[in-house]
Amino acid sequence: MRILATNDDGIMAPGLVAMRRALAGLGDLTVVAPTTPQSAVGHSISLTEPVLCHRMDLGDGASGFGIEGSPADCVKLAFLELMPDRPDLVVSGLNLGANVGINVLYSGTVAAAVEGAFYGVPSVAVSLEDSDAVDFDGAARLARRLVEQFLAARPGPGALVNINIPALSPGPPKGVKVVPQSMKGWREKWDARRDPRGRTYYWITGDPEVEDEGAETDVSALAARYVTVTPLRWDLTDHARLGAVRAWDFRL
Ligand code: MN
Repeated sequence: MRILATNDDGIMAPGLVAMRRALAGLGDLTVVAPTTPQSAVGHSISLTEPVLCHRMDLGDGASGFGIEGSPADCVKLAFLELMPDRPDLVVSGLNLGANVGINVLYSGTVAAAVEGAFYGVPSVAVSLEDSDAVDFDGAARLARRLVEQFLAARPGPGALVNINIPALSPGPPKGVKVVPQSMKGWREKWDARRDPRGRTYYWITGDPEVEDEGAETDVSALAARYVTVTPLRWDLTDHARLGAVRAWDFRL
């Protein structure tokens, strides 16, 4: 089996190093990942800039392709140029920081997995909740088990799941839950500061909103220390409203 491993934290990020170690033996691993951190670039691609590709020694006997581009660029380049035989599985991560709620839309980690699904290949995004003592290897071993179960379920062409692992420092997760993506975002604010030339600049900051009622979601289940699995799709159409919007009777 051929596996494409990518991420948005960068090709040398410890989450990807741990994921490579954990996936060893599951298949032939090709690493194609950004040379610089690309978190929160979403599904952007490079149109007005060239995309440089560097064959890189990853320092532990492995090599990979470092891409000066976005996670979606990495997957496109892998499928169309770098991998002579298309992969059977795309694994994006392990990301440092959860990708739940509306973060899913900002996430480069998730975008890389969506891109793999665009090509009809089963794809998995994996993220680990941030904490003071981050256990990348422990989380990557958990992720490997879940990836194997995903494959054993014969997920079908373009099947896409978003996996989030709670911080492991308080102990092992309570279990695994398949839950929908929360619609919750962040309590955001802009931190306004002054630069040495007296100009005001802004830095986005905030805290995640935690569910307080309603159905269980990726946000609430992760907060309750469950590993979450969320099947995703990229058809953003609001199918339930198609009829109502047709009834608005737009005309020229
Ligand atoms: Mn990231």
